[in-house]
Amino acid sequence: MSGTILVTGGTGLVGKGIQYIIENEPEGSRFGKKAGAKWVFLGSKDGDLRDFEATKAIFEKHQPTEVIHLAALVGGLFSNMKYKSTFLRDNLLINDNILELSHRFKCKKVVSCLSTCVFPDKVEYPLTEEKVHLGPPHGSNFGYAHGKRLVDVQNHAYNDQYGDMFTSVIPTNIFGEHDNYDLSDSHVIPGLVHKCILAKKNNTPFIVSGTGKPLRQFVYSRDLAKLMIWTLYEYNEIDPIILSTGEDEEISIKDVADAIVKAVGFEGDYQFDTSKADGQYRKPASNAKLQRLTGGFKFTPFQEALQQSVTWFMENYDSART
Ligand code: NDP
Repeated sequence: MSGTILVTGGTGLVGKGIQYIIENEPEGSRFGKKAGAKWVFLGSKDGDLRDFEATKAIFEKHQPTEVIHLAALVGGLFSNMKYKSTFLRDNLLINDNILELSHRFKCKKVVSCLSTCVFPDKVEYPLTEEKVHLGPPHGSNFGYAHGKRLVDVQNHAYNDQYGDMFTSVIPTNIFGEHDNYDLSDSHVIPGLVHKCILAKKNNTPFIVSGTGKPLRQFVYSRDLAKLMIWTLYEYNEIDPIILSTGEDEEISIKDVADAIVKAVGFEGDYQFDTSKADGQYRKPASNAKLQRLTGGFKFTPFQEALQQSVTWFMENYDSART
C-alpha cells in the first residue's frame, strides 16, 4: 500500500482520529503508515462531494489508490427527524460520487462508514452484520439510514459487476477529540460534556435528560481510527463489519454522566430530569466478528478515553465545534 490514500471527511471526528494515528503510530506497524504511502485528509473546503464535477476534480488532483470514505451529512435526532429528505439526498449524492469515481479511477479498495442506525427498528438483538437489511430502519432517521444502507448495496453491485473491492464498517456511538460539542443537536457524550463544563463554570446544576438507565456501546475515535486502518489493510470482505467495544461493555447513561462529572472535576448539584424521554433501553451490537478477525483488539478504557476527550475540549473550547 504505497500509493495515495484519500480520506473524505478528514476534518471530522473520525477523520481527525485517523490523522492522529497515522501521524503517531510507528511507520510499518499494524496501524501505522506504510512506507511510501501518502495520506490526504479532505474537508468540505476541498470540494463539495455532493457535486460530481467537484469530486472528480479531487480524484484528478490526488489520483488515489485507496479511499477511506467518512464524509457524510451527520446530525443529532432533531435534525434527522426534521430534514429527512436532505439527509437522504445529500448522503446518496456523496456516496454515489465517491464510489463511482473510485471505480473509474480504479481504486484498489474503498472503506466507507455506515452506522448502527442502518439496522432495522424491529430486530432481534444483538445486532450482527447480516441483519442490516432485514426490515425498515427507525422512522426518526429514515433518510440518513436508507442513504447509508445503499452504500452496502452499491458495494455488492460494484463487486458483482466489476470485481471492485469496496467494503464498509459499522461503528457504534463514537466520541473523542474534534467531536461536535453543540448543546442542542449533538450526540450524548459531547452534549453532556459541554453541559457539565458550563454547569461548573456558571455554578449551576448539571442536569442530565432522562433516567440515566439506558445502556449504550461507545467507541473512542482513536480506537475506531486504528480499526478503520486495520480494515483498509487487512479486512477483505464486501460485507460490513461492526467496529465497537463488546456487548459486555455496554455503559449506562448514568455511568457516562458519572464519568463526565469526574473528568470535568464538577462538584456541584447533579440531577436526572426524568420528565425527558429516555429513548430505546438498549440496542447491543456484537463485535464477535471483529475480535475473531483481529485476534482480539484492546480498547482504551472508557474513563481514560473520556478524560482525554474532555481535556482536549477544555483546551480547545474556543475553536471546537459548539
Ligand atoms: P463529522 O460530522 O465530525 O464530520 C463530517 C465530515 O464530512 C467533515 O470532514 C465534513 O467536512 C465532511 N463533509 C460533510 N459534508 C460534506 C460535503 N458535502 N462535501 C465534502 N465533505 C463533507 O462526522 P464523524 O466524523 O462523526 O462521522 C464520520 C462517519 O462516521 C460518517 O460517515 C458518519 O455517518 C459515521 N458515523 C458517525 C457516528 C458518530 O457517533 N459520530 C456513529 C456512526 C457512524 P467539514 O469539516 O469541512 O464540514
